[in-house]
Amino acid sequence: MTLLLFNTLTGQVEPLVPIDGQTLRMYACGPTVYDYGHIGNFRTFLQVDVLRRFLKLTGVPLRHVMNITDVDDKIIRNAAVAGIPIGEYTPRYVNAFFEDMEALRIERPEQIARATDHIDRMVELIQKLEAAGAAYKTEDGSWYFRLSSFPAYGKLSKKDLSGMEDGARVDVDEYEKDSARDFALWKAAKPGETAWDTAIGRGRPGWHIECSAMSMEYLGDSFDLHAGGEDLMFPHHENEIAQSESVTHKPLARHWMHVRFLLVDGRKMSKSEGNFYTLRDLLLKGYKASAIRLALISVPYRHQLNFTFDGLAEATNAIERLRTFHERLRTTTFAEGTNPAMQAAAAKAQGEYMEALANDLNTAEARAPIFELLRASNTAIDQGQFFAGDRDAVLRVLASFDAVFDVIADRDAEATKHALAWAEAEGRMADVAPELLARQALSDEEIEALVAQRTQAKKQRNFARADQIRNELAEKGVVLEDSKDGVRWKRK
Ligand code: AMP
Ligand code: ZN
Repeated sequence: MTLLLFNTLTGQVEPLVPIDGQTLRMYACGPTVYDYGHIGNFRTFLQVDVLRRFLKLTGVPLRHVMNITDVDDKIIRNAAVAGIPIGEYTPRYVNAFFEDMEALRIERPEQIARATDHIDRMVELIQKLEAAGAAYKTEDGSWYFRLSSFPAYGKLSKKDLSGMEDGARVDVDEYEKDSARDFALWKAAKPGETAWDTAIGRGRPGWHIECSAMSMEYLGDSFDLHAGGEDLMFPHHENEIAQSESVTHKPLARHWMHVRFLLVDGRKMSKSEGNFYTLRDLLLKGYKASAIRLALISVPYRHQLNFTFDGLAEATNAIERLRTFHERLRTTTFAEGTNPAMQAAAAKAQGEYMEALANDLNTAEARAPIFELLRASNTAIDQGQFFAGDRDAVLRVLASFDAVFDVIADRDAEATKHALAWAEAEGRMADVAPELLARQALSDEEIEALVAQRTQAKKQRNFARADQIRNELAEKGVVLEDSKDGVRWKRK
């Protein structure tokens, strides 16, 4: 099954297939590690994860590269305020980013590339640009890209650049929306700032050059897909195209994917607006990592998504239903055989699910047949019309759902535990919701011990004590399920 994906460059939905007929090579712009990421950032990484997982599900081998911007204006500024070198400032945010990825079940790309490990490559690329007449050095020792040397500039974002002023320059990484100017490739060292001594002078790279240099290094001159948030289309991706194509004379990437924003009250979630939540904020409020994942991916990437707590509650309920159903299938004993109607329902759900994702990653439509199958299966089970062969067929559908959505397998407790340990270490326990603290009051061992005591009490027909233990556990957010195989417990 081939994925049909909207291509920003052509404005069309087009098949995404490896140019070399083998491995799909993709580059996705990663985080700038000056602070904790907010869930808007993670919406973009999650949608790229959906793409990645769907490609894998359809059997496409991947080589996915993601950069980490570990040198830029904000990092330099923040490190200076903290009074430490950037190499000491960024690791905590790099680690935090990976922890958050793990909590959100975002798969690691095959290759992660840090900007500061690739300064040589960037310098070489700037030298090649100079040789091609596309880069020039200014009096202060900075280097700029000469926009007038690249007439195709604007082809991705379809900007009309006719009013562009030749030689007008911009040297900051934060741009005015509609300005197209010669942009910085390399910034001359300023006193006290982080800098590298190189063949093109002492300084540090501009933001855009890293992605051109590192994509070339790991994916070659031309590759299949380039992805990022919608704000990167201009100028970042436009600049990457100008830098790379001026040297290679080949299309940087054939396909471009841009994830639309996560909004809050109609405005982009962002650090500068102050309207953001980090993953940690939400985990400490008691929301589950899986619910945050599902809420952020359930609206397809081509649509902006308004963040609401109702949305998180909806996702929490949806996951609860899926998990309860999965558990029912796993633990119920069914008679051998199959029900042809159930077999057909499973095949239909699987087909519709795959088709929705293949259709430009329509995650919202992909969910629907799964829940329909859940309802049909529950009804058939209640009526005794569901057999072992049906269970296997439905479990296979759930497995392919989870290969992309990854919310049924429950790893939430671990993510929450990490967030609490972090809050403790950072002195942020005041941010932890009281219900969450109550829920965490018992360790796994303590719960096991109470469950064992309750079983013992029941054996001795001391039902009052058994109920008392059940209630005590319930107050601390632990629910018990009695089944013929014994007692199972889970945290609410
Ligand atoms: P940054 O760490 O700021 O470089 O951003 C990392 C990624 O998050 C980029 O791909 C951005 O386009 C993306 N991004 C930033 N804000 C949002 C948002 N509100 N919604 C979705 N993606 C975003
Ligand atoms: Zn980039």
